Amino acid sequence: MAIRKKIIAGNWKMNKTSTEAKTLVPEIQEKLGKFDQAEVVICPPFTALQTASEALGTHSDIALGAQNMHQAASGAYTGEISAAMLRDLFCRYVILGHSERRQYFGETDALVNEKAKVALKANLRPIVCVGETLAEREGGKMEEVVVSQTKGSCAGFSEEDWNNVVIAYEPVWAIGTGKTATPAQAQEVHALIRKTLGEIAGKAVADKVRIQYGGSVKADNAKELLNQPDIDGALVGGASLDAASFVAIIKNGSEK
Ligand code: PEP
Repeated sequence: MAIRKKIIAGNWKMNKTSTEAKTLVPEIQEKLGKFDQAEVVICPPFTALQTASEALGTHSDIALGAQNMHQAASGAYTGEISAAMLRDLFCRYVILGHSERRQYFGETDALVNEKAKVALKANLRPIVCVGETLAEREGGKMEEVVVSQTKGSCAGFSEEDWNNVVIAYEPVWAIGTGKTATPAQAQEVHALIRKTLGEIAGKAVADKVRIQYGGSVKADNAKELLNQPDIDGALVGGASLDAASFVAIIKNGSEK
């Protein structure tokens, strides 16, 4: 059975200016201290990546990630950012297919899959997000949606690619709503995603790929959620904007 190191990522969404990042990043570093029990990632908006990258420095325990990228290498795509541009700022991760991208920007599984493959080629690790809406859950479609998003967004990855892929299960009804999936509800879906990975890529891949939970994760629910057998970390939105609450989630979530 593969040992999966927990990965806890903060998705700042469209929050924090570059100037604000200049104080928030050192605050997180100071409160976290030397820490190797989990991998920690922060994902500021594009405009704060340079500042965050400089504040983290080259040997930081905290990795840098972006929240999206365009699939083309370069060219006439006004307003877009390429994988190479992210690598140039020392990003190691990129969140892809977040439900807000799917909902407001029409991103499909096929597009998420294309972006993920481009990211992997550029040495960026995709955090591929999947998750059902409340209507889908209440309509008995949770399994169908999560399985088809997982298969569609992660199609055609090579054995080597899978070493660098993280999946985030984020039930849309739990994002920014204060409604968290119960540990049992989250575990059930994580086990389903792992089973799906087994079907599409084999048991060894299913055993090693890390699956984060996201949706109103807070310091007081992190430990119980992250102690579920198939939950390998958290993707944290709102609570990652404050150094104390983000670090409390990291520390509580890493406790056995
Ligand atoms: C997210 O947007 O990825 C998220 C999980 O948000 P929140 O923690 O605020 O629910």
